[in-house]
Amino acid sequence: MQEVRCASCNRKLAEGLFQQLNIKCPRCGTLNSMRVENPSPPRVENSEPECQRAPSSSNLIERQSP
Ligand SMILES: [Zn+2]
Repeated sequence: MQEVRCASCNRKLAEGLFQQLNIKCPRCGTLNSMRVENPSPPRVENSEPECQRAPSSSNLIERQSP
């Protein structure tokens, strides 16, 4: 929830979710233009399952026979 307060007298005007709002303060008459710049878009993550865990095996040593 977002609180909308008057920029002039700091009176609470509204409360809720909005992206853009124009509201006139009934107290001092200031027209407040509220706007949310970042409405937090859903984040897409490429979550790959870590199933390819190669154990550090030291047995794979190539012997270079002369
Ligand atoms: Zn006001």
